[in-house]
Amino acid sequence: MRHQIHDLQSPLPGTARQIHSFHFGPTSARGKIYIQSSLHADEMPGMLVAWHLKQRLAELEAAGCLRSEIVLVPVANPVGLEQVLMDVPLGRYELESGQNFNRWFVDLSEEVGNDIEGQLGENPQRNLHLIRNSLRQALARQTASTQLQSQRLTLQRLACDADMVLDLHCDFEAVAHLYTTPEAWPQVEPLARYIGSEASLLATDSGGQSFDECFTLLWWQLKERFGEHFDIPLGSFSVTVELRGQGDVNHPLASLDCQAIIDYLIHFGAIAGEPAPLPDLPYPATPLAGVEPVATPAGGLLVFTALPGEYLEAGQLIAEIIDPISDRVTPVHCTAAGLMYARSLRRMATAGMVIAHVAGAEAYRSGYLLSP
Ligand SMILES: [Zn+2]
Repeated sequence: MRHQIHDLQSPLPGTARQIHSFHFGPTSARGKIYIQSSLHADEMPGMLVAWHLKQRLAELEAAGCLRSEIVLVPVANPVGLEQVLMDVPLGRYELESGQNFNRWFVDLSEEVGNDIEGQLGENPQRNLHLIRNSLRQALARQTASTQLQSQRLTLQRLACDADMVLDLHCDFEAVAHLYTTPEAWPQVEPLARYIGSEASLLATDSGGQSFDECFTLLWWQLKERFGEHFDIPLGSFSVTVELRGQGDVNHPLASLDCQAIIDYLIHFGAIAGEPAPLPDLPYPATPLAGVEPVATPAGGLLVFTALPGEYLEAGQLIAEIIDPISDRVTPVHCTAAGLMYARSLRRMATAGMVIAHVAGAEAYRSGYLLSP
């Protein structure tokens, strides 16, 4: 195991932070896997899974079982991790800019495309190396003027040449689910089975330039631009894995999730071994554009009548919103049928607030598809 320390730009004298990356197995020449956790620094289940993985990967490395380099970043957002305001951990948005830590990773597809134009050839493997080199160089040329940019750039440089990127998150109260692209789904489906993903939400471009999409989108855009004349492989795929809800931090779940990721890496060929049998997929993949963010029209006490993991019929009651002054009770229903994979942790809703997400089968939204 090789431990690397990456200095972030210090926003103020005496407040410097670092990103720590742990590298297992052979160097990336033989394939690379990148796994990080808690980019939203109020989401801890992934960090415990990463810690379990750290022990397992050290054992597998000692036993000579690692075929690819596996890079692990258990604390992907030290900036957000320190945000504890009057006993409440925050960690989703940077306080200086108000920006979501998991948005606006730099889009280099045009720069890389201009650089490689004229150098592409018949051989897809050669094209892949050409694009990866160009991407590494383009990221090396980028400069950060703020701590937030420096954190994003550090993570993006660490993951840019990986074959697979796993970004471990969680929701508020939720069952296991994941986000990836339709193009990557055939490769991601075994992970969805091992991890027991109850909703797998697919979108090529959800509009926020999130960490997972900054890798897949680059290859997709290069394929769009040059694919008619050249064989451009999808050199990287990524998955945002949502390990249930914020309170689901315990050893039994973390060791199951750790084992699921190890099983997937064996199945993928990054770790030597016999792949575990594939469990059934709990729920088919659905378009991210088919997710209904169910909002309440009124503010009040939020009393749920449906649990995460429940399949809802169209128009089913999800919650009641109670105004204890007027005694008005506002029922909140979903519109379309689907699996309710996540709901809010708050129990006092404000008018207009999204209280739950339901994965429906039919795409009906367009444009920006993510939460703020
Ligand atoms: Zn998150």
